[in-house]
Amino acid sequence: MVAIEKIVAQQPVQWRGAKTRVEAEAAEMVTVKPLLSIISPVHNEEAGLQQLYQRVDAVMESLGVTWELILVDDGSRDLSAVEIAGLHETDDRVRGMRLSRNFGFQIAVTAGLDVAQGEAVILMDADLQDPPEVIPQMVERWREGYDVVYGVRAERAGETWFKKASAGMFYRLMQRITSVDIPLDTGDFRLMDRRVVESIRKMSERHRFLRGLVSWVGFKQTGVTYHREARFAGESKFTLRKMISFAVDAVTGFSYFPLQIANWLGFLMAGISALAIIAVILLRLFGSNAPLFGQATTLITVLFLGGIQLICLGIIGEYLGRMYDEVKARPLYLVQETWGID
Ligand code: UDP
Ligand code: MG
Repeated sequence: MVAIEKIVAQQPVQWRGAKTRVEAEAAEMVTVKPLLSIISPVHNEEAGLQQLYQRVDAVMESLGVTWELILVDDGSRDLSAVEIAGLHETDDRVRGMRLSRNFGFQIAVTAGLDVAQGEAVILMDADLQDPPEVIPQMVERWREGYDVVYGVRAERAGETWFKKASAGMFYRLMQRITSVDIPLDTGDFRLMDRRVVESIRKMSERHRFLRGLVSWVGFKQTGVTYHREARFAGESKFTLRKMISFAVDAVTGFSYFPLQIANWLGFLMAGISALAIIAVILLRLFGSNAPLFGQATTLITVLFLGGIQLICLGIIGEYLGRMYDEVKARPLYLVQETWGID
């Protein structure tokens, strides 16, 4: 990584405004890729983008490295796209793309990864909940040789009790039932080395759970602790419904545990009925004529088992539906418009 920075330092930062073709071609040869790419997915964040750019710019200025800020407009219905176009106008290190509709956070980030050029890529929310001021610490760890530096949340300002509790439970559950080791209390705020980014780009799955994918990749990973701030403007885009479907994606993407539940329940029920059969035979043999089960018992048993069977079918359905999505192999996203991206 030191070597790369040397090369970058020897070359002009970026070429702008060639007049002839020869000049343009010559310039093309010295145009260097930025060292750091910052990717922020944007969904109705018009009020905060200016501030985002200013804070990123200030931090990068202090770091003294080449950088680009990639803003992926994920089907915003406000003026986010206009903001992005304006920022690109004033500073061409800001590059943007607009997806054809709302594809969701995970896909928007994936689109950003596809166009990022940096030797290291940083994922950061556009709402400034992930403070850009943490980036220098991440870069430092990267320079020490780590491939992934994730942000660990020490504190979550401005989030509801319910969100904190459910997030805490979710991470702990994931640790128990999945084979990948997803660090506790991390979000998507992280720095990734180019080779990690390339590995992730090879994974074309639709129902993406990026944190899981990044853990799955392996390499050398570490964390830096930071204080997660309250949103700068606007409100959270994650409704309870979105959070649940996100959690189901995470679990089905990395674990067979729900499928195994059906297995265990089957053995449990079979065991109970075997014992019951023996008990009934013995009672009959030793002369008890008492009716062992009434109609209510029979009905409840049948309904109970029917319920369990439907739940198990539903679990299989969750996996099957996701398999169907993968088999259809539609493109992950469609691009409507770009700024500074070919
Ligand atoms: N986001 C997005 N597409 C969506 C929802 C959210 O690109 O469908 C972006 C959003 O603009 C923000 C980031 O993802 O930059 C995190 O979203 P949010 O702040 O709403 O989530 P929270 O911080 O509440 O988990
Ligand atoms: Mg947020």
